[in-house]
This record gives sequence, C-alpha cells and structure tokens, in this order.
Amino acid sequence: MKSRVFTNRTLNLRKIKYIGLDMDHTLVKYNTQEFEALAHKCMKEKLINRGYPDIIGELPFEFEQAIRGLVIDEARGNLLKLSRHGAIRASRHGTKRMDFQTQQQIYTGTYVDLGDPNFSAIDTAFSISVAVLYSQLVDYKLKNPSLEFPEHKTMFNDVVDVLDESHRDGSIKNVVAKNLDKYILKNEKVVEGLERFVRHDKKIFIVTNSDFHYTKLLLDYAVSPFLKDHKSWMDLFFIVITFSQKPRFFFDNLRFLKVDPKDGSMTNMEEKLTAGIYQGGCADVFEADLELKGEDILYVGDHIYGDIVRLKKDCNWRTALVVEELDDELKKMEHAKPLQDQIRALMEDKEPLEFELVDLISKKIEDSDNSKDEKIEALQSQISELDKKISPLIKQQASIFNHHWGEVMRAGNEESYFAHQVDRFADIYMPNLADLLSLSPRTYFRAKRRPLAHELALSLVLDEET
Ligand SMILES: [Mg+2]
Repeated sequence: MKSRVFTNRTLNLRKIKYIGLDMDHTLVKYNTQEFEALAHKCMKEKLINRGYPDIIGELPFEFEQAIRGLVIDEARGNLLKLSRHGAIRASRHGTKRMDFQTQQQIYTGTYVDLGDPNFSAIDTAFSISVAVLYSQLVDYKLKNPSLEFPEHKTMFNDVVDVLDESHRDGSIKNVVAKNLDKYILKNEKVVEGLERFVRHDKKIFIVTNSDFHYTKLLLDYAVSPFLKDHKSWMDLFFIVITFSQKPRFFFDNLRFLKVDPKDGSMTNMEEKLTAGIYQGGCADVFEADLELKGEDILYVGDHIYGDIVRLKKDCNWRTALVVEELDDELKKMEHAKPLQDQIRALMEDKEPLEFELVDLISKKIEDSDNSKDEKIEALQSQISELDKKISPLIKQQASIFNHHWGEVMRAGNEESYFAHQVDRFADIYMPNLADLLSLSPRTYFRAKRRPLAHELALSLVLDEET
C-alpha cells in the first residue's frame, strides 16, 4: 500500500527518541461533524440566554459552510479563503458569496494583512462550528434589521466566548461522556502501532490542553481496551501532560504540577520530570529534565498554529501535522484526476496559441501591418473554443470538493494559505496518526527535490525535445 505520510523536510524516524502526541483530533479521533453540531447547539443556547433573539435557536448546523484554513474578518462579518501569498481567492459575507467588485472595494486590492487583529484563522476542526454560527448570525443581522443584533465584532467575540464557556462548564463534555460511541472514533490500529513503536524503544508522551479527567475519559475508552503489551494507557505513555496551555507550553515558562492518577489531585513538584502524569509545564524544562535535544523529539498535532507553527518557531522539535480533511480529499482527488488531466491538456494547447496571438498583435501595433488580421481572428476563435471546453470542466472538478470553498489545500491553481503553513512548518503531514504508525519506526522520510518555476519551464522544454 502507498504511504499516506507526506514529506516536506527530510526526517529520519530512527533518530527520533521521543514521540509527542496531541490528544484531541490527533491521538483520539472525533466524529467531527457530530461534535461540531453539538458545539453549535450549545453555543446557540448560551447566546439566547445572553439575550440573542430566540429565532437563532432554529439555525441548522451546516458543516460544509466552513473549512479549515479560512480566515474570518471579525469586524466585517466575512469569511475569506486566501492563497499562499495572502491573496483573497474566495469570499463570503455571512454565508453569501461576495462578488469580486464588492470584495475589491472592501479590501482595496486582493491582499490582506494577516497581522490585522480583526482576522482570525480556522486553525482546527474545533473552530468549524464557530465559523458556521458566526456567518449565520451575520446573515440574520442583515435579514432582520428590526431585531437587536450586536456589531459584527461583538457577535464574533460572543460566539468564541460561549464556545469556551461550553467547554469549561461541561455543557459539551458531559454530553460526550454519555455518548462516547457517537462522538469518538476508536481505532485499534493506532494502539497497535503505538505498542510497536514502544517495542522499538520510542518513548511516547502526550501534551494536551484537555484536563486530566477528560483525558482519562477518552483514553480509557479509545486506548486501554486495545492494549496487548500494557495494562492501561498510563503504562503505555511515558509522560502525559494535561492542561498544557499550548502554544504557551512551547515558549513560556509555566510550572509543572504532578497529577495523582487515582483522583486527579495535584501537588507541586521540585524534582525532575520522570514517568508520570502532569499538568501545565513547558518545553524548556521538559527537554532539560529528560536531557533531550529538540531534534530528538517528533511532535504530532492537528492544530496548525497551537501545535505546529509556534512549536517550529520557538523550539526546534520535529513536527508532524494530522490533516484529517485529507482522508476525504485524497479520495476526491483520485476521482477528479481524469478531469484535471483534461484541463491540463487543454491548457497546454491554449498556451502556444496565446503566445502567438500576443506576438502577432504586438507586430501589428509596432509595424502598422494589418495583413495578419485574419490569422489573429482565427487564433482568437480557437482560444475561445478551448475556453468553452475548459470552463465546464473546471466547474465539474470544483463540484467534487466542498461546494462552498473547494479543497482545503488549494485556492484555485495556487496553494491555499493553509497549505502554505503546512508546507512551511510541518516536517511531515498525513490524514491520520494511524498512517504514520503503520510505517516502520525506522522509516526515512526523504523530501523530494521540488522544481522552481524556471526549472519546471526548462524541464518541459527538455521533455519536448527528447
Ligand atoms: Mg488537537
């Protein structure tokens, strides 16, 4: 079977001594659609309690309305999909598509400054419900001017606030705890793979922002039942760090507290870190106490900012990103490939015609020579014939992916801003942790030489000549 682990930077697993795992959406998979629907419901109830109009209770959860990597313009009520250069490639006001002219007027050009505090990105699947509910509220505010909806920015802050509250006060967790089989996807292969890696002397540890009780709930359910060489997850994982406050864990200096696994009670600690369960802490002390260098550690997470970008910027741990959307998108890419091939072939037919056309028009202007007018017309009609074939193919190809936003990793012909972050900060990436664990713990991930624009052009010329 083909490996589904993709390499941005060369990484030798044999040299990795410690493998760190994020828990939510990395070690433990959620039924994202169900979980986000639950979050959406809890948020609506809390907003109504805070005085939002009762009608918002009827808003249905539409999972497809948002994808990871989109940027929310909190002050204007817009959702944006950006290319790798930060250029807007698709935009919506609420859930309604914005036309290009409006978009240009608002953003005076195509590029946005991501340093603007009014922008925030959908960095994890946990934020899909925020983006969906916020866009729906923006629609409602527009449609019902007589009802009292706050300003866009306030609405956004309220949505984020009620999500945090729903996590904090147990509104979400209590429902998950009672319906684990609905919200959590068990995967025996992950546990099998972890035990195999342990047999190769890899130390596996967890750094999660979830608290001890929730961590225990999920690991008792998703890990312990499948163990063969260990009694419980507490024996499998060398160190478990709960409530870690990532990304601060990677750059701040927070203290570790020791957690008693019997009741979750905590005590201060003066001694060095050893096997066990902890709360808080920071990467510096972790490395120092265990006498590790950054490159001895591979950290696997799903949060592009909290797990990966800050980690790469602040520590030099190796990084692996889980992009669960790829599971579906890889299948769809296979499905779209024949269309993609047809589009490429037609574009390759079109390019030399365009080149010739530009050349003839230039000569006509420079030499005031009208003798080539017929040829110019013929070329123009050939190009428009090709466009007529290309345009429905592009639509057909786009319809295979998310109908509102297309692929997570692409913005039209370019990479999406999200794909750019993955490329820059994740050494390797994959749809599931199981994909990594199904490989040998001695795997050498080799980054392929990537052609630059001029090398690509040269190789095409060489291909044509040979
Ligand atoms: Mg996570």
